[in-house]
Amino acid sequence: SSRSPAPRVCVVGSGPAGFYTAQHLLKHHDLVQVDIYEKLPVPFGLVRFGVAPDHPEVKNVTKTFGQTARSERCKYYGNITVGRDVTVAELRQAYHAVVLSYGAEDNRTLGIPGENLPGVYSARAFVGWYNGLPENRDLKPDLSCETALILGHGNVALDIARILLSPLDLLRKTDITECSLAALACSKVKRVWLAGRRGPLQVAFTIKELREMINLPGTQPVLNPADFTGLENAVKDIPRPRKRLTELMIKTALQKPGEMAAQAAAPRQWGLKFQRSPQEVLPTADGMRARGVRMALTRLEGSGESAKAIPTGDVEELECGLVLSSIGYRSLPLDPAVPFDSQRGIIPNSMGRVEGAPGLYCSGWVKRGPTGVIITTMNDSFDTAQSVLEDLRGGVLDVSVSKEGFGAVGSILSSRGVRPVSFSDWEKIDAAEVARGKAAGKPREKIVDPQEMLQLIGH
Ligand code: FAD
Repeated sequence: SSRSPAPRVCVVGSGPAGFYTAQHLLKHHDLVQVDIYEKLPVPFGLVRFGVAPDHPEVKNVTKTFGQTARSERCKYYGNITVGRDVTVAELRQAYHAVVLSYGAEDNRTLGIPGENLPGVYSARAFVGWYNGLPENRDLKPDLSCETALILGHGNVALDIARILLSPLDLLRKTDITECSLAALACSKVKRVWLAGRRGPLQVAFTIKELREMINLPGTQPVLNPADFTGLENAVKDIPRPRKRLTELMIKTALQKPGEMAAQAAAPRQWGLKFQRSPQEVLPTADGMRARGVRMALTRLEGSGESAKAIPTGDVEELECGLVLSSIGYRSLPLDPAVPFDSQRGIIPNSMGRVEGAPGLYCSGWVKRGPTGVIITTMNDSFDTAQSVLEDLRGGVLDVSVSKEGFGAVGSILSSRGVRPVSFSDWEKIDAAEVARGKAAGKPREKIVDPQEMLQLIGH
């Protein structure tokens, strides 16, 4: 009835999963109120801190997220770390439903000797650094070597290769941070290898990103034709996207030197190495930093997506001063009160309903694992929102009891000295960043220090 109190839902995390979950709830329920809690002062998760600076069109989704945040029945509370500043139990007390959409904030590790040597970085930290993620702003990656090795064959690996090899003039017009631009200007890196354990039919990157790399000005692709022997026949029966992707690699590998005249003179190179599994990061003689990686050669057992890489016993050393491991992000447990499958790195759930915890939901990378693009995340967030709506309507969630929502959480936070950042506060930070970028012809100059953000809004 119109007298029943408004259902209150809180969403933890303001990346695509959080915003798409909120959007779907608001659109399909006339009364529901949604509060979004975010750890950082600034919203949008990996759209701001993951998506490459030279892919501005991908970031257009933030316009839709902004509309959601400004809607009458939605509130954004930044600068609040759930699990530290407020517990999940406290949130469940204050809301009819809690949706966990906090993404994947760690990375998988190689688990090999030498992994912690200077000169070795996770893709997550490197991406965070050039995108202005506060925790990585002081990374200062050492770019004084000529050869970099990226471990991994996904789109994140290609993003990093592209950033390392792009002509500076292309990056200058993006929202890449000033300090990483300065570091890239002094970079000596001119050769980037991307190595994967399996073969060309198992790469995880997509054709758009591969094509961008092939067409990168001043850069020559180096693919070994022998890696593609026999594949022209094998691709005939595989699904179209992978067929086209493989054909593009084959075409590039078989290009005659003449056709590459322009590229042959290119000062920079990149290439794909297949069936190589990292065994050890090798130290320099003084043990002070990485000088290369010993790779185990592999053979493939099985075929297609499920093929397994088995070491043949042969090894190869690859000289490189910079090693970037791009083998995947990883979600962390948020709070002991929330079930977590550490094997799979996700919150166990069915259709977004957290197992054994009625009223608790999850969406995005923490629900599915850290793969898939924004659209994939959107669809799975809509599914989760649908589950919440069904439970609101079906009486699984008791909406006859009124819940205080932020009224209750706000007092807990202020008793702990935590001050939230509102969406209009973010809009001030946003305007300041855009203004700073303008002088340099950039869409924005990101503020990388949270303290500076808070000062700017008078906190
Ligand atoms: P996230 O985007 O990570 O959002 C999670 C949010 O939760 C973050 O804002 C985080 O700060 C917050 N949070 C974490 N812990 C807490 C806490 N304790 N309390 C409160 N808040 C918390 N997709 C594309 O479609 N195109 C691309 O070009 C593209 N490029 C990518 C490049 C990289 C390097 C990466 C890693 C991914 C890329 N993706 C791209 C994929 C896309 O970013 C993801 O599909 C999507 O961001 C996942 O959304 P999410 O909301 O689950 O996680």
